[in-house]
Amino acid sequence: MFKLSNYIDGALVPPASGQYIDNYNPAKGEVYSLIPDSGEEDMDNAVKAARRAFPGWSTLTADQRSEWIMKLSNRINEKLAELAEAESKDNGKPVWLATQVDIPRARDNFAFFATGIKHFASESHQTAPKVINYTLKQPIGVAACISPWNLPLYLFTWKIAPALAAGNTVVAKPSEITPMTAHLLSEICIEVGFPAGVLNIVHGNGPNAGNALVNHDDIDLLSFTGGTATGAKIASVLAPKFKKMSLELGGKNPNIIFDDCDFEKALKTTLNSSFANQGQICLCGSRIYIQRGIYEKFRDAFVEATSKFKVGDPKDPDSRMGAIVSKPHYEKVLSYINLAKEEGGTILTGGEAVHLDGENKNGWFIRPTIIEGLDEQCRTNQEEIFGPVVTIQPFDTKEEAVALANCTCYGLAATIWTENLSTSQFMAQNVKSGIIWINCWLLRDLRTPFGGMKNSGVGREGGWEALRFFTEPKNVCIKY
Ligand code: NAD
Repeated sequence: MFKLSNYIDGALVPPASGQYIDNYNPAKGEVYSLIPDSGEEDMDNAVKAARRAFPGWSTLTADQRSEWIMKLSNRINEKLAELAEAESKDNGKPVWLATQVDIPRARDNFAFFATGIKHFASESHQTAPKVINYTLKQPIGVAACISPWNLPLYLFTWKIAPALAAGNTVVAKPSEITPMTAHLLSEICIEVGFPAGVLNIVHGNGPNAGNALVNHDDIDLLSFTGGTATGAKIASVLAPKFKKMSLELGGKNPNIIFDDCDFEKALKTTLNSSFANQGQICLCGSRIYIQRGIYEKFRDAFVEATSKFKVGDPKDPDSRMGAIVSKPHYEKVLSYINLAKEEGGTILTGGEAVHLDGENKNGWFIRPTIIEGLDEQCRTNQEEIFGPVVTIQPFDTKEEAVALANCTCYGLAATIWTENLSTSQFMAQNVKSGIIWINCWLLRDLRTPFGGMKNSGVGREGGWEALRFFTEPKNVCIKY
């Protein structure tokens, strides 16, 4: 059985404990590799290596760091097909999706920040004729980066790239549920001769490896993407130590469709925003509110199109959806479908597991599910399911739509469908969410601030926001 390694101080090493965790292929429901069960000793080795590498890396010029990071980007591009297959096998997502979205985006994350850092400038302020203030933006030190399983290499590199570009060294922990492409990134670092200790990748589960990283006294800042409950635990450790942190957390995103929308576009995109990646994208819209004038027409077309989705082998190019990432998550999603029924919801399509034949017979597949007839306060509509399950509900006015959009503890993303400029702007102004899509979804520009309000997080990633987060501003005032 293939054993993944930690990547510490430029070398692939086994975990100090000698213990490993099972890694599953969710489409087959079977173990196919083993992950280091790392703990305090491994994290300590990684943080020490990152600390040793910091003076060298942080004093390179932006151009020099950029050159190194571009090597990672280029190598990811060369290995795109291999990485996409590995991502699909580890996560259950269709190979075509990993090929078109996940791996190109990992490549682009590195390229974006490798070039972005060349344009990252300091401000200066002429305060009086003989007084100038200028603000340095200095690398901070050892950055801890912890990422989730839904977009494994994509979100892992989204943190690592700006941290490195800004001149920090990094200790990164990928999700134990999808560690493979992070391991392949370690191999890429070795292949391109990336300087030892600058990036360290340590595997393991949250309570053991993740917790050891968060609690390590010698990390300077932390960037986390994952669940809200985990974010709260991490914040309780780091806040009293006054460590800088960025938390990208859960969501329960509204998708609001007005009568005057472009019907076909709204329908086509809603199919994606509901079920892409098996509904396991933090930006997926899971509460769909449809204005009453088109409610029945939209519902019927949406249900009909969804019921034709092929849920199948991730290797099959015709599979619109692949497997759910893990058995516990599969069981969680199915339990929410049962809860929805108990709460009085009607399943319009889906609502059950899919049992495939052949090598996928033990895989974890769920049919895309649309539920009607629930009120907005029930648990199904308040709690994050993070799977291929959406609810639909009619609304009448734009004021009511705002109230519905804002009625959960989350505030990550919202999608608005209307051809009326004033309505779209009313919604954009009043919906409490870090990201608003109008007549589109997941149309990403890496320069824009990315993150959530309320229980969806603290801070923003992307563009200058990320480079600001990964640097410490220091103001220097000169009088001459
Ligand atoms: P999770 O919180 O269970 O795990 C995320 C990461 O944190 C993993 O690497 C895990 O090992 C680690 N971890 C767990 N407990 C830890 C602890 N006590 N200390 C340190 N690290 C710990 O989340 P998940 O199930 O992997 O991911 C799904 C969640 O991520 C969903 O809530 C989803 O909405 C969210 N998410 C948010 C965004 C965003 O940008 N806001 C993007 C993707 C996913």
